[in-house]
Amino acid sequence: MSSRAVLAVASECAPLVKTGGLADVVGALPAALEPHGWTIRTLIPGYRRVLSALKRPRVVLDLPDLLGTPARLLAARVGDLDLLILDAPALFDRDGSPYLNAGGNDWSDNDLRFAALSKTAALIAGGALTGWQPEVVHLHDWQAGLVPVYMAAAGVTVPSVMTIHNIAFHGLTAASRMTALELPAAGFTLDGFEYWGHISALKAGLTGATAITTVSPTYAHELTTPEFGMGLEGVIATRRHDLQGILNGIDTQTWNPASDQAIRSFASPGGKAANTRALRAEFGLDKSRGPLAVVISRLSDQKGLDLLLQALPALTGRGGQLALLGSGDRRLENAWLSAGAANPGMVAVRIGYDETLSHRMYAGADAVLVPSRFEPCGLTQLYGLRYGALPVVARTGGLADTVIHANAAALAVGCATGITHRPNCVPSLENALAQLCDLWRDRPTFTRLQRNAMKHPVGWGASAPVYARLYARLAEQHADEHADEHEDPA
Ligand code: ADP
Repeated sequence: MSSRAVLAVASECAPLVKTGGLADVVGALPAALEPHGWTIRTLIPGYRRVLSALKRPRVVLDLPDLLGTPARLLAARVGDLDLLILDAPALFDRDGSPYLNAGGNDWSDNDLRFAALSKTAALIAGGALTGWQPEVVHLHDWQAGLVPVYMAAAGVTVPSVMTIHNIAFHGLTAASRMTALELPAAGFTLDGFEYWGHISALKAGLTGATAITTVSPTYAHELTTPEFGMGLEGVIATRRHDLQGILNGIDTQTWNPASDQAIRSFASPGGKAANTRALRAEFGLDKSRGPLAVVISRLSDQKGLDLLLQALPALTGRGGQLALLGSGDRRLENAWLSAGAANPGMVAVRIGYDETLSHRMYAGADAVLVPSRFEPCGLTQLYGLRYGALPVVARTGGLADTVIHANAAALAVGCATGITHRPNCVPSLENALAQLCDLWRDRPTFTRLQRNAMKHPVGWGASAPVYARLYARLAEQHADEHADEHEDPA
């Protein structure tokens, strides 16, 4: 099959730079789409850590004045990934996270940094690279939201897909930044990128992209409601016919308990025991008469871990234990450190980000807890399923779409894969934790649930063809609409 070209634009891409699920998805889509005839080149910023990981990058474009900054575009391969890297030292050559300075605050020039990324994408879509032009551009979250604006300003008509990974982040900046970002005044309207007197990069993408997707069917529906739309529900509603929820998958090669080098590999629930022992030892947890649950998460309001703190006695009081790995909100970090100190041998907390440790935790855990207030898709429950750590999740967004609750009916037909709870409040979370402990004691049932979980399809098998069909439809529509431009005038 001859391959067709997509340009993906994102602020993160695993394994090079990751702060959350966005990176995993952006990193996994190219390999998932290749068998369906689509080759994805991924444009990312040249953060210091990205540039230092590249072997033999080639300069493919000079950009002496990109929004007032000298830059170059590099091309490099990293594993399966065909990368374009925006090397703009004034914007990206710094220590720290992609978005935050050492003090934990947004970099003050984040608007300019990701506008520069978006402008570069528009140039590439317009044919700036010799011998390569995409048929479709795929924009991930607000950091790529301005691409349709820059494309339209340059008369570039390549169709675009805007994927919402998390609508909580709008990429807002002051209206006074219009000139610095080289944005057209005509776009600063209710139908464009204006949002309550500010510039919203996400709204620019939502109003300007040809199609919109989000990362689960339930979240696609939730986004049209005031409870979840975060002020953009009206914009989403006007585009609901162009909106589709496509469930995220995970990279089932990197995340394969049968071949994972980071753990004592296993292919069935019985093989987890050695990992569980090792995990208890690593976290200084006692031998226990209850399940070992884990949390691997950003510590933010979204993730509902303040509710879990309050519900914790429902787990520990029944002999259950918790190992938590996470970082983020300082208040939550401190509250969790205190919970660890107050429950020695039963609750253990690591503040930080550690990918390899996360593998050991999924492998050793009986359960992974995800009590999110909202969750566009969520990946940790998918890793949990794959590694036989039963997801105990709030029934929202992608969590609702990926976990089959162990109610009486699902247990009777033998298809349950975890525990879901709703509403997301302390009493319902306490019930879920109590159910986890009860199920854990019923060894045959618990083992059957783990077996179901490990068999549950969590790869890209179902969703990759959906993206491929979407790309094809947009490319064909575009070709139809612009057929006359290519017709021979004779
Ligand atoms: P979000 O993108 O909202 O943070 P997801 O569940 O979609 O949530 O993705 C989170 C990803 O980040 C998962 O791959 C998870 O394993 C990983 N992760 C989150 N926190 C940590 C951490 N402290 N250490 C290692 N991996 C983490």
